[in-house]
Amino acid sequence: MFFREMRTFDAIFIGTSPVMILEALQTSLEGKSVLMIDRRDSLGGAWHTAVLGSFKGIEIGCHYIKRYRKGYAFLEELIGRTLPVMDPQPCVQFWKCQFDHAQRSPAEFSLCIKNIRERKYRSFFSHLFRSIHFFWQEYLYKKQWDSPFCYPKEGCAEMIKALQRLLDASSIEIIHGRSVHEIYVEKNKKNGVCHTDQDDIFFRECVISSCTNLQTIHYPKKNIVLEKIVRSYDHVVLHIHGKKAQPFHYMEVRDNRYFSRVSDVGFCNPSFKKHGKKNELLLCVQIPANHWSKLQHNEKAFSDILLIQLEKKKLLQPGGNVLAYWSNRYETPFMDDHELDRIEKEFYPAIRTMKTTDMGTALARYADQWSSVLLMAHCIRQQEHRCTSDIEKRVLTLMNI
Ligand SMILES: Cc1cc2nc3c(=O)[nH]c(=O)nc-3n(C[C@H](O)[C@H](O)[C@H](O)COP(=O)(O)OP(=O)(O)OC[C@H]3O[C@@H](n4cnc5c(N)ncnc54)[C@H](O)[C@@H]3O)c2cc1C
Repeated sequence: MFFREMRTFDAIFIGTSPVMILEALQTSLEGKSVLMIDRRDSLGGAWHTAVLGSFKGIEIGCHYIKRYRKGYAFLEELIGRTLPVMDPQPCVQFWKCQFDHAQRSPAEFSLCIKNIRERKYRSFFSHLFRSIHFFWQEYLYKKQWDSPFCYPKEGCAEMIKALQRLLDASSIEIIHGRSVHEIYVEKNKKNGVCHTDQDDIFFRECVISSCTNLQTIHYPKKNIVLEKIVRSYDHVVLHIHGKKAQPFHYMEVRDNRYFSRVSDVGFCNPSFKKHGKKNELLLCVQIPANHWSKLQHNEKAFSDILLIQLEKKKLLQPGGNVLAYWSNRYETPFMDDHELDRIEKEFYPAIRTMKTTDMGTALARYADQWSSVLLMAHCIRQQEHRCTSDIEKRVLTLMNI
């Protein structure tokens, strides 16, 4: 006979992306009991890392963090060192031109051309209008950002490592490999319960993010099905013997049908720097979703095609060869901010939402709320050599919570 375990927490968090971890830490530092649940086995959501061959902590994704000084300042304090400026800066390549990554007019213009080719005239006019609008904003008004693009010296693994240290020192419980499909909110909206495959978890507050896979929220006499778009992000990490034809960290390519983004994940990875040989590169390439089946059909041939395309786009010098490759599909639902607002308006305080569509914006938006987390990070760094599980108590005492 099976018994379903029943447990109660002040707050449960669905997903373990960096923003969710930071919010969970802050909640825990306010003295609440916190549980994080993730259907995947690793921490970090879209920012997870993996062991590929003999290389550890490899980023599976072409990552950048939007350039808000406030977000970078927060990350610097969290990690405990300054974020180097990316040199060269992330950019968008379209035909033979390169544009600043934040400029949206080239992207819109490339969609105009695509629509003309596909004879989608209505869509063509909408993108044409948008490209003129963005061109006006970006070139004539020179939209200014308050910082150049920066990125942790050891990539997103450095950020995940810092968060892992904080989680280890906190009282937060984490369950991996379990999905939450539905939650039930009580009539008074002050409590709820979620059923996982193995247990029933009662909560006072459930926190969800933009990319949650939660399907339904049940409320007396009404069920709300969350409106989401599911996107799939398909990546191939290529271990290449060859040389770059031009320096780049992160590049978006608008006029190639085999890949849309490429980033040099070996550059910021200590393990690759240690074990990789001279003239070897580790590149993460994002491919369009319709190529996934071709990739699955013959991975070796497809990775060779990608190498040729990288050479054709003058990102790599001709004559390289692929030493190894790993492919990964990350399917993720996505809810826009309006849908999140709708849910929060309907179910607050039982359900709280975090707007996490992009990391840089989320860090800048929520940084002010996470000051206790920074204090905790600081304490841990100070006492690293004798960091024990009672560190959180010391921080709590320090903060008079
Ligand atoms: C491959 C990829 C690359 C990206 N690169 C960038 C980038 O470079 N810069 C940037 O700013 N943004 C990037 N993003 C956007 C990214 O979505 C956000 O930066 C941020 O990670 C979103 O956080 P999130 O918690 O909403 O979702 P995610 O990061 O996707 O994390 C959600 C986590 O919750 C788990 N989960 C979801 N639903 C459930 C459920 N019902 N039950 C249990 N577990 C669940 C998932 O397994 C996952 O681990 C990228 C996204 C992807 C997919």
